[in-house]
Amino acid sequence: MQRLGHTCPKFPFDNTFARSLNGFYVFCNAAPVVAPKLIQFNKPLADELGLDAAINTSQIGSEIFSGNLIPDGAEPLAQVYAGHQFGHFTSQLGDGRALLLGEVVDAQGHRRDIQLKGSGPTPFSRNGDGRAALGPVLREYLVSECMHALGVPTTRALAAVTTGEMVKRQISLPGAVLTRIAASHIRIGTFQYFSARGKLNKVQELADYSITRHYPHIAGEKNLYLAFFKAVADAQAFLISRWMNIGFIHGVMNTDNMSVSGETIDYGPCAFMDKYSAHTVFSSIDHHGRYAYANQPVMLLWNLARLAETLIPIVDSNEDRAVRWLTEALEEAQSLYSAYWLQGMRAKIGLSTERPSDPRLINDLLALMEECQTDFTLVFRQLPHVLRGDSNKVRDLFAKPTAFDDWLRCWHSRIKHEGIKPEIRAARMDACNPICIPRNHKVEEALSAAVDRNDMKPFTNLLAVLLRPFEEFSDNQTYYVPGPELKDGYQTFCGT
Ligand code: AMP
Ligand code: MG
Repeated sequence: MQRLGHTCPKFPFDNTFARSLNGFYVFCNAAPVVAPKLIQFNKPLADELGLDAAINTSQIGSEIFSGNLIPDGAEPLAQVYAGHQFGHFTSQLGDGRALLLGEVVDAQGHRRDIQLKGSGPTPFSRNGDGRAALGPVLREYLVSECMHALGVPTTRALAAVTTGEMVKRQISLPGAVLTRIAASHIRIGTFQYFSARGKLNKVQELADYSITRHYPHIAGEKNLYLAFFKAVADAQAFLISRWMNIGFIHGVMNTDNMSVSGETIDYGPCAFMDKYSAHTVFSSIDHHGRYAYANQPVMLLWNLARLAETLIPIVDSNEDRAVRWLTEALEEAQSLYSAYWLQGMRAKIGLSTERPSDPRLINDLLALMEECQTDFTLVFRQLPHVLRGDSNKVRDLFAKPTAFDDWLRCWHSRIKHEGIKPEIRAARMDACNPICIPRNHKVEEALSAAVDRNDMKPFTNLLAVLLRPFEEFSDNQTYYVPGPELKDGYQTFCGT
């Protein structure tokens, strides 16, 4: 499509989803916006995706990443899905405010979706306006890029555009569009959509497509769909273990927000924990703590069980047998999760070997952190300073320093057998314990400057720090510490 006299940039689109999965989407156009303005652009990611350098100019970028100008080769479509939302099944969801432009193969040979979020109504919008507000768009940009820098599988943010239009939420807010990059947008809920309608051939088609796209290594497996379930379970178990290792709380782990590729997707009311409390919930709508920090591994398995249900008929024609195999695979997923979690926690406290007593050592530290309400991120970051001769940095974080001394003695006796030089162990610990996470007060400061004052500077500064989360710079100290404690705790909102 050509508009506004621009030469349309070429994206190297190759749209397998549109081509292979008839009935899984509807073609749909973006609704044009009045005054698009590119406010954030991820050049390194655009290069990785092999996108035309012409989009780097703010005028063309504004038009493309708002949906006003559709690049050649794009086939915009809204995908269907269903999903369990806070435990309740909705059989008809789908992209209500997002459009898949198409797929490109990146520099590493990985196929990636390019999706606009906030690009106007689709047939799946229900009562929604199809739009997104600037605050949530910037939150997703910031947190997803930070997760990538932290080494956590995630969708990425390519661009953010303000629309020049207001969106009505509880109050009127500036509208924006996020361009999101994902390994795919296939969700557990996509399987549920067809399963709920008894369309087993569609479930199988989707499984075949997902295997080709995400898990080609299982192609020769005897029971292909059981192997598929195990592969998804493995990827999601790894993902949630990484969330737990860094204190990330997704906030809305509904089955429509769980990607079969194992990437973090659909950043809504997400936030990082400051002081350690297993029951931390930030989302204003999560009244019963369904998606509280410590409940995330439980919900991982609950969600995987919903995926398993959709696969029963294609795993085996004997239902009892299929259920038995899938149940065993689900139990394996629980063990896998525990193993990934333990592997991550061992690295965090600097262990290179494995001992049966390690879970106890780790859990004792967590219990003490919970009792003393210490900052989750800082404890692990300051612990290596003990090896550099300064124990006070970490000790001072504990309201019960002598109890921490006891733990430290156990830790010393555990590590002394490994024969690793203190400075080497300390450097390894620094490499897996971030000094910087998106501190809630800093995120709020950046978003309100952008939304209320049209000032992107705090956002840009925060993003720059978050992109190097393991490196400590003396100038950045204010980014590293938690903000003042709020009387009623910190609350996040879906922003839809
Ligand atoms: P989310 O809570 O963002 O995961 O969205 C849940 C469902 O609601 C998805 O099907 C979205 O497409 C849809 N949705 C969320 N916000 C809007 C909106 N503003 N307009 C239309 N649909 C929306
Ligand atoms: Mg969603």
